[in-house]
Amino acid sequence: MRYSNYINGEWLEPVSGEYKNNTSPHDNQVIGEFPASTEADTKEAIDAANRAFPGWKKLSYQQRGAYLLKAAEILDKNAEEIGRDLTIEEGKTLKEGIGETRRAVSILKYFAGEAMQPTGNVIPSSNPETMIYTKRVPLGPIGLITPWNFPIAIPVWKMAPALIYGNTVVIKPADLTPKCVYHIMSAFHEAGLPKGVVNCVFGRGSIVGNELVENPDIKGISFTGSNPVGRAIQEKAIAKGKKVQLEMGGKNPLVVLADADIDKAVDLAIKGAYQSTGQKCTATSRVIVENGIYENFRDGLIERTQALKVGDPLSNDTFMGPSVSKNQYDSVLSMIEQGKKVGELLCGGGVVEESSLDKGYYIQPTIFALSDQNARIAKEEIFGPVFSLLTAADYREAVLMANDTEFGLSASIWTNNLNRAQQFIDQIDAGMVHVNSETAGAEPQVPFGGMKNSSAGPREQGKTAIEFYTQVKTVYYDQ
Ligand code: NAD
Repeated sequence: MRYSNYINGEWLEPVSGEYKNNTSPHDNQVIGEFPASTEADTKEAIDAANRAFPGWKKLSYQQRGAYLLKAAEILDKNAEEIGRDLTIEEGKTLKEGIGETRRAVSILKYFAGEAMQPTGNVIPSSNPETMIYTKRVPLGPIGLITPWNFPIAIPVWKMAPALIYGNTVVIKPADLTPKCVYHIMSAFHEAGLPKGVVNCVFGRGSIVGNELVENPDIKGISFTGSNPVGRAIQEKAIAKGKKVQLEMGGKNPLVVLADADIDKAVDLAIKGAYQSTGQKCTATSRVIVENGIYENFRDGLIERTQALKVGDPLSNDTFMGPSVSKNQYDSVLSMIEQGKKVGELLCGGGVVEESSLDKGYYIQPTIFALSDQNARIAKEEIFGPVFSLLTAADYREAVLMANDTEFGLSASIWTNNLNRAQQFIDQIDAGMVHVNSETAGAEPQVPFGGMKNSSAGPREQGKTAIEFYTQVKTVYYDQ
């Protein structure tokens, strides 16, 4: 099937007439043909968003919220079908695919509820005749550039706050997962959103994404993706006077102290590292364990990892599906080869060779024991089912190791010692800290983001989303 861009409330063919096949990482079956759009398509979408902005901004918050609720209802009704398409397109398991779609429903409902929340402050003046207050106003058309690893949730967690606060949007979805965003557009279309309020242009980042970053009518860019692409976008967008929000990579540590419940900590390490095939920005990618329990913990990890069922993500008993693409697969395998040179391979270490999976990008869940915390596999984001196991003499050494990367997205500690947990919360350089729970996880009402090279700009989600999607007007009102 051939899919179209969604511009000004209509499904439009790309100006070039060119399309690109999208295939499943499980078996390479063709999912559909998606537009290989150009700057011309992108400009048309931006013009539509610009024209729609004054009318959308004028609606009440409650009117805008009603559209979000309607879109939520439609996504919810179709969650099984959409989740299945997500699984076929991205490779995460069916449970994860449907779960992600339902999470998008919660995000829309949460932001619809924000319509009833105060958005400004009344500030006392030194003059009794003057009332001073702040109000939040939208930015205008916003460019949203999204990755493939949460192809339903991430677009929605940007669109929902953008829309509720009165902005219009043009989204450029990841090239690998366009069908997921097609489903989101269909839901907004069916919800009857006014023409031009949401627009979607499929195509390459360097063409469509770049036009969003360069075009003066786009007032803000919210980007989620890799660090090099994010930083390059930031530089260009700031030079053009745009507001920028970046959510980028992670190298998230799980610290396991000697007093931890080993079985539970093993379980969470496995979930944190291998759910979604390790393709989460918050995936556990370094496990730092106190010396005293190292052997027991390591043996538990190996036993659990070897028992994991890797295979067709649509099967109910599958724990882990394929990597998303040939590129990602090659990149993870090359990091595994790096790991073999510097560490001890504890399990996995190659491709899954079952013949039924031979067309897919299946990699074994892999663990390296590392003595060198500076090895590339302990420093760089891998974005696959691979993690390093490191040992620390004590808590102090563990937290130093945990902080020793350029990233600071999420971190977790396993301990029953309240003081240690509190120290870790204070000392770890991470935007999100977990005590006795896995590094991954996000809820719509909770601010999401990191420190250091993981994020830039205001946080996404929760009450903090308003900071990116609005600007403040201060009003002095003399009677
Ligand atoms: P990517 O950086 O390759 O691409 C992200 C998006 O940017 C895509 O839509 C892509 O087409 C677009 N893009 C590429 N070049 C561009 C350019 N020159 N101008 C404008 N847009 C351009 O990332 P990816 O491979 O899709 O996603 C994986 C990365 O995303 C990982 O590094 C992961 O950590 C990160 N991620 C971060 C979070 C977070 O919230 N911190 C969440 C999910 C994923």
